[in-house]
Formats: sequence, C-alpha cells, structure tokens
Amino acid sequence: MENTKTLRHDWTKEELLEIYNKPLMELVYEAATVHREWHKADEVQISTLLSVKTGGCPEDCSYCGQAARYHTDIKVQALLPTETVIAHAQKAKDNGSSRFCMAAAWREVRDNNDFDRIIDMVKGVNDLGLEVCCTLGMLTENQAQRLQEAGLYAYNHNLDTSEEYYDEIISTRQFDNRINTINNVRKAGITVCSGGIIGLGETNEDRISMLRTLANMEKHPESVPINALARVKGTPLENNPKVDIWDMVRMIATARIVMPASMVRLSAGRIEMSETEQAWCFMAGANSIFTGERQTLLVTPNPGVSEDMQMLKNLGLKPLVKEKESACKAN
Ligand code: SF4
Repeated sequence: MENTKTLRHDWTKEELLEIYNKPLMELVYEAATVHREWHKADEVQISTLLSVKTGGCPEDCSYCGQAARYHTDIKVQALLPTETVIAHAQKAKDNGSSRFCMAAAWREVRDNNDFDRIIDMVKGVNDLGLEVCCTLGMLTENQAQRLQEAGLYAYNHNLDTSEEYYDEIISTRQFDNRINTINNVRKAGITVCSGGIIGLGETNEDRISMLRTLANMEKHPESVPINALARVKGTPLENNPKVDIWDMVRMIATARIVMPASMVRLSAGRIEMSETEQAWCFMAGANSIFTGERQTLLVTPNPGVSEDMQMLKNLGLKPLVKEKESACKAN
C-alpha cells in the first residue's frame, strides 16, 4: 500500500474506480489502515442537525421532501426563534455532541432580517463552545464573511451527485453554483462540509466522479458526508430501490482513502441500517454521525441519541470530544 501520509489532489478517474471496485475485504482493510494512520479509530464525531426553517423551498432537488413543488407530508415551518435554537444546541451539547448544524430550506441566503437572525444563532451556539455549522443554500462571499465573523466553523454544501448526472436530479441550479458557494466559504476561512448522496439512480462512474471532484479540490473538505437516499413519499425518487449496504461501504472506504484527513460522515440512511451494517461503515473509515433526541435528520427519520450511544458502546467507540484539535491538521 502506498504511503497515505501525503494528501493528493490529482486523483484520476481510473485510480478511483480501481479503489472503489477492489475486492470488498481488501478495500475495507486498506481504508481501515488509512483511517488508523490519520485518526483515532475509536473516536466518532457526534453532530446534531436541526432544521431551523423547514419546507417551502423553491428548488426542485428530486430527492428532497422540502421542495415546495412536491406533495409530501412535510409541514412548512418558518424560521425558529433564536432562543429555541440555542436551547436545542445546549441539549445537543449535554447529549455529547461537539458540533451543531443549523439547516434552512432556502435556495440562497438573502441579506434580510432572517439572515440577521441566523447570525445571532451562530453567535449564540458558538458561545456554548460547540462547533457551529450551517447549511443555508447558496452564499455570496460577503455573506460567508459575515458568518465567519459571527463564529461559524463549518458550512455544509453538498455536491449531491456528479457533475455529469447533476441535471437529472436538479434543474433549478447548476453544478457550478455549488462549486462557487464552496469557494466563497473557503475564501472566508470557514471549513467546508461537502459530500453527496447515493441511490439517486447514478452509475458507479457518477459516484467516482463526485468523489473525484471533492478529492481534487485545492483543499479537501474537512467533512465529507456520504448519504444514502432517504426515499420521501411524494418526491420523484420515492420508489428508487434501497441503497445496498456494500455500496455505502465502498463509497465510505473510497472517500476515506482519497481524503484521509477528512471526517467521513455516515449520514442519511442510518435508520435503514442494522448496527452490524453501521459497524461495517465505521470499519471502512466513517468517523462521524448525526444524532439527536428528535430522531430526525431534517425531515427524515434517524436513530435517537440513546440508541446511538448504546451502539457506540457496543462497538467500543466513543464520542470525539473536539474535532478542531485532532483532525485535518495536514489538510
Ligand atoms: S435539498 Fe435544499 S435546496 Fe434542494 S429542495 Fe431541499 S431544501 Fe431546497
């Protein structure tokens, strides 16, 4: 195995395909080895995600129950009061989370009163000593700067899928829009959280292409969420087949190998996985999860915090206390 203590940003499609298609045991062994070289393999970052503004989104992401145009059961909810958000953040911290993410179903951030309120939320959560993350849609450089000054640690903006497959999934924006926002986040000195979703009908080549875009960025995203499609009734993808666990394991392992310093998050889709299946994902290099007392991941079901803590205990894993000091040092 090559020396993985060097970060590379010049991966070819062929190299990634070769990694992704390795015999599974070999792939997991390699990813687990890389994981141990770069991270403490018994630590899992615990993040909590709160939807601070739900539904009514003008975008048409085919997988999303929050798009206004699809007839789903999701109830539209206006921006939560700042005090409510801070109270949720305090609870998340008490339950062992080190990162608190706030999500708003917006196409883009507007310079209005709602954004001012988000800035207050960021300040309040930061004051609790948590890493603060937001996912608010597209951002300008100035907006990113304001968030950074308020204490934002990370910004989530997933690529969703490959550049080649993007138009099949979303028509209301382009792949380049995603890259622009990520660049604006970087310029402001905020860490980047960016990954994607599998199970959208994409090919293995699309999966590889998405990972290659992330791995060949000038700086790897500090967090890489790998999501399995959560099939929401009323969305165009509601009848897609369930994602195969081995596809998740292959994606996680490949992400771990090509972006060794990053936190790889086993994100949406855990509710449909057994503890054994999740253990495979941790073995393949996942070292971050979302959990929380609300048992939802935005608008889809997710395991609850007590269930997750029991799982970590069963697997001999423990919550990562502070990511800032232990990860991404060389990125
Ligand atoms: S994924 Fe985000 S941008 Fe797309 S429809 Fe859902 S809330 Fe809107």
